[in-house]
Amino acid sequence: MSAGDAKKFIDLSHTIVEGMITYKGFPAPILCDFLTREDSKHLYAEGTTFHIGKIEMIANTGTYLDSPFHRFEDGKDISELELTQLASLESVVIRVPGQTARAIDRDAFLAVPVRGKAVLVHTGWARHWGKDQYFEGHSYLTEAAALYLRDEGAVLVGIDSLNIDDNSGKERPVHTTLLQAGIPIVEHLCNLEMLPLSGFTFTAVPVKVKGMGTFPVRAFATI
Ligand SMILES: [Zn+2]
Repeated sequence: MSAGDAKKFIDLSHTIVEGMITYKGFPAPILCDFLTREDSKHLYAEGTTFHIGKIEMIANTGTYLDSPFHRFEDGKDISELELTQLASLESVVIRVPGQTARAIDRDAFLAVPVRGKAVLVHTGWARHWGKDQYFEGHSYLTEAAALYLRDEGAVLVGIDSLNIDDNSGKERPVHTTLLQAGIPIVEHLCNLEMLPLSGFTFTAVPVKVKGMGTFPVRAFATI
C-alpha cells in the first residue's frame, strides 16, 4: 500500500444490545445508566452534560475472543495476550458456506497456506444471528481440523458461528487444541462474505482485564 492509499475497514462484529442472547442458556446483557445526562447537569457548567453507562454481562457476549485461560487455569488471560497476537494479523478466509455437513474437517484448509496467519472460517451461519435458528445446528471445526491448523502454524482462528466446537457432546477438542497451543479463538464473527480470500489484516482486541478468559471484541479487517 502506498502512502496515498486510503485504508478500507470491514466491521466483522455483532452489535451488543440490551436483552440479546448470544448463547442459549446464558444471560443477556443488562444496560443502564450510572449517571444520566439529566442528573449530570448539576455537576457541570450550564450546557455541559455527560452520560456514564453501566453494563452487566457475561464475558461470552456478542463477538468475542477466547484466550487460553478460558479453557486452562494456568493459561494466559485476556490481559496477558500480546497485541502482536491480536492486531493487524495477516489473514486468510476459508469459505464453506455452501456445505451441508455441519463439520468442517481438515481438508477444507489444505489448499491455503495458514502459517503465521489468522484463519477466518466463513460458514455463513451469521445469517441466523438474532433468530432461534442460530442456536441449533451450527457449523463447527473437527478436532482434526484444529490439529492441522495448530501444526501448520495458524496464529488465530475465527469463525462466524455459534461455537467453533460441536456442542452436542461434552468434549470441546477445538478449544482444547487451539487454546492449549496459545492460539486465540474468535467466535460469532459476521460479514465474512465481504472479505477477499487473502491480502488483508484482521484485528480483534479485547479490553485488558485481569482474570478473564474471554471478552467481547470489535473485530475488523483492514484492506
Ligand atoms: Zn469459545
